[in-house]
Amino acid sequence: MSFLSSALCLRSLPLTRPALALALAQSACRWSVRPTPGPPFCRLPSIRSISTYPPSWAAALLKRNPQFKSLDWTDVQAFRTILPSPGGVLTSIRDPTNPDATTSSSSSASVSADQLDSQEALQAYNTDWLKLYRGQAPVVLFPETTAHVAAILRYCQEHRLAVVPQGGNTCVTGASVPVFDELILNLAKLNRVRQFDPVGGVLVSDAGCILQNLEAYVEPRGFTMPLDLAAKGSCQIGGNVATNAGGVHFLKYGSLHGSVLGLEVVLPSGEVMDLLSTLRKDSTGYDLKQLFIGAEGTLGVITGVALQTAPFLPVAVLLGLNSYKQALDTYALAQKHIYQNLSAFEFWDRECFNYLLESGANAPSEPFASTYPYYILVESSSSDEDQNQESLSKFLDILLQNKLMGDGTISFDQSQFNRLWAYRESIPSAVLRHPSLAYDLTLDYPHFYQVVEVLRDRLRQMGLYDGYKGRGNVQAIAGLGHFGDGNIHVCVVAKDLNKEVFEAVEPFIYEWAAERGGSISAEHGLGILKAPYLHYTRSEVVIRTMRQIKTVFDPHGIMNPYKVLT
Ligand SMILES: Cc1cc2nc3c(=O)[nH]c(=O)nc-3n(C[C@H](O)[C@H](O)[C@H](O)COP(=O)(O)OP(=O)(O)OC[C@H]3O[C@@H](n4cnc5c(N)ncnc54)[C@H](O)[C@@H]3O)c2cc1C
Repeated sequence: MSFLSSALCLRSLPLTRPALALALAQSACRWSVRPTPGPPFCRLPSIRSISTYPPSWAAALLKRNPQFKSLDWTDVQAFRTILPSPGGVLTSIRDPTNPDATTSSSSSASVSADQLDSQEALQAYNTDWLKLYRGQAPVVLFPETTAHVAAILRYCQEHRLAVVPQGGNTCVTGASVPVFDELILNLAKLNRVRQFDPVGGVLVSDAGCILQNLEAYVEPRGFTMPLDLAAKGSCQIGGNVATNAGGVHFLKYGSLHGSVLGLEVVLPSGEVMDLLSTLRKDSTGYDLKQLFIGAEGTLGVITGVALQTAPFLPVAVLLGLNSYKQALDTYALAQKHIYQNLSAFEFWDRECFNYLLESGANAPSEPFASTYPYYILVESSSSDEDQNQESLSKFLDILLQNKLMGDGTISFDQSQFNRLWAYRESIPSAVLRHPSLAYDLTLDYPHFYQVVEVLRDRLRQMGLYDGYKGRGNVQAIAGLGHFGDGNIHVCVVAKDLNKEVFEAVEPFIYEWAAERGGSISAEHGLGILKAPYLHYTRSEVVIRTMRQIKTVFDPHGIMNPYKVLT
């Protein structure tokens, strides 16, 4: 397991908090203020072996589009001309006149010569994070400049080569890996910060910059990135934009549709579409950059991103709750009393938490003396420290007066803040390292957690689920998510992730959400996993218009085929 320096995980936090100390002193018997254990979450580990069962019938039934050319040695030579630097081209295709020659340009610092020589290196890029999908791309390209991307796409369109843009490969819908033998265009080497405006807080960077590295860049300058997610140690800002990622700070900073000020995009034709504005206001015709936000690489390759960052001084509180009703009431009070300082309101249930607490030697311990069925992490942040403390103190007092939580703990310093967040951020990996199906729904509050209960009842009746790690094949039906955004992730963990489990859950869960006006994909996109279910949340007219837009930008359909629109 490789981790980046833990220093990159640190966030700025003032050390003295008199107002909070007062609130805690007044209620010391109800609060556990001891430091909470657990490492901060950093670079994502690789988690499990390839599933034996295809998670989507549609994926299993897809056929390769015969209009796409298969990659061969001539293409490899052309790519080596475009990317002459060491490590620019990774391929298993051999020179037919000299089949024993090395399979790569040469070694590089980030990818060793041994790796480059091995099929294993190609497999890593061909396999998605959940290890549910594996493509067979014989070529991965690592451009370092926008001009490289432009030359590659121009070549690919001319020769009808299908392309999968790839960022950190952390998406959970299969969108970032080939379905068949599409070329992988990995943006990892396009990773420079281009400029930062310390007055306006506008950051312009290459698309391949890792989110956590950008956070480490802006944080000492007194700012934070407008998005934060548990995959931050691996995902790239270009991938975040391409998936319209949400994450834990969506509540305060909103969608990337708002915080992305500009984009630089290379179209399949090789033309560079310069939309890289740093202006907050620009009302001059169609706002084309919005089309690339959430397009999952189906319209073009994002090479540059201009983002509005924000000032940030946060405090976090972890609460153990006895009922879902308490979560609803706590959220209503947080909105009222923390109001615009409320920067995260995260939720998870006991089944999720168990997976983290039972995750081995390095697992954190229980945060409280008692266990609870629900947990909430509330974060308050502001550039005005006094105002931040005041509103949080008031909020905590009111929670105590109303007996709205079983227990709670608060961060007094940076390391406690990181440790509280490590609980939340480590849960997805802890759960999803087991064979599981994961869903990403937006539901209104009456239905937010009901979906978990309904699914438990359904699978119990079918004899598949008998409680957490019970006798049923399904070992857990767990819920966690961005409560403040109405976004719940439902995880169905099974001993044997077989057809019976799959058919018990899908399409039932999508239909259930659609009937209640929910979204079948809140923030993860559609990829290949959910492309067949688009009609549950988009009308025929909308889907037809999406297809027309796709044709305008990508007339030969070479960009990330088989994804989003099937
Ligand atoms: C543990 C864990 C926690 C997560 N938590 C969250 C969360 O809280 N919120 C959330 O929204 N997501 C979350 N995700 C999902 C994932 O991290 C996000 O979707 C992320 O934005 C993907 O970024 P990436 O760089 O890894 O992109 P990839 O996975 O490499 O690619 C994702 C899609 O974007 C396209 N793409 C990538 N780069 C570019 C580019 N430069 N130009 C054009 N297209 C491109 C790909 O073709 C693909 O379609 C989580 C994932 C994990 C594993």
